[in-house]
Amino acid sequence: MKQLVIAIDGYSSCGKSTTAKAVAHLLHYAYVDTGAMYRGVTLYLLEHGIACDDLPAVEQALKTLSVSFRRNRQTGRNELFLDGVNREDDIRQMRISNSVSEVSVIPQVRHALVAQQQRMGRKRGVVMDGRDIGTTVFPDAEVKIFMTADMELRARRRQMELADKGEHVPLAEIIENLRKRDHIDSNRAESPLRRAADAVLLDTTHITISEQVDFVLDQVSAALFAAGRA
Ligand code: C5P
Repeated sequence: MKQLVIAIDGYSSCGKSTTAKAVAHLLHYAYVDTGAMYRGVTLYLLEHGIACDDLPAVEQALKTLSVSFRRNRQTGRNELFLDGVNREDDIRQMRISNSVSEVSVIPQVRHALVAQQQRMGRKRGVVMDGRDIGTTVFPDAEVKIFMTADMELRARRRQMELADKGEHVPLAEIIENLRKRDHIDSNRAESPLRRAADAVLLDTTHITISEQVDFVLDQVSAALFAAGRA
């Protein structure tokens, strides 16, 4: 059967990664969480005291840093490794969420990560979630979904995810972080967060995870049907 690229873009904490992971699992596709890669670069810059406007240092870091995913056999999750070290838990912390959008505007960071994402998906058969997958990374993706949800619901989801990892953050702080990231992500010059003209909108405010997964699978069936007729 034809191997597709499934691009799932949208705002933070709308259920993108939960849906993308489930779809990838059901289709036996690879799953790439591109937000984790931007979070990884952010963690590296913070730990090495590299400021976002120190472009020579940022470029040098991008040349030497290795960002990769490895599958955790126990949980089945893909986890983020920086220079061979598992940093999955560290990149999810609030301090990274507070800085990641400033790092993601840097064109050199985007060029390096977009090129890596394109290599990761070159054989197709991949579900990738992020902000610019359907517009920039894989504009030729056969399935493009753009997710959105009510702000308070997004913040509550994020609050629960952080609490599960032992970080207790007030809702107002999370809402402020999400609003700030939405703003920076949507207004940057380089590949801003934007719904591709051919992306299907999915508002997850009132639907369950399994309904979200079914919605994407319906789009996949339609794309496969269209490919079969082409
Ligand atoms: O998906 P997640 O919330 O982990 O993404 C963290 C941040 O990484 C986003 O707020 C955005 O600044 C950046 N990002 C991006 N492009 C992507 C994925 C994430 O700029 N494709």
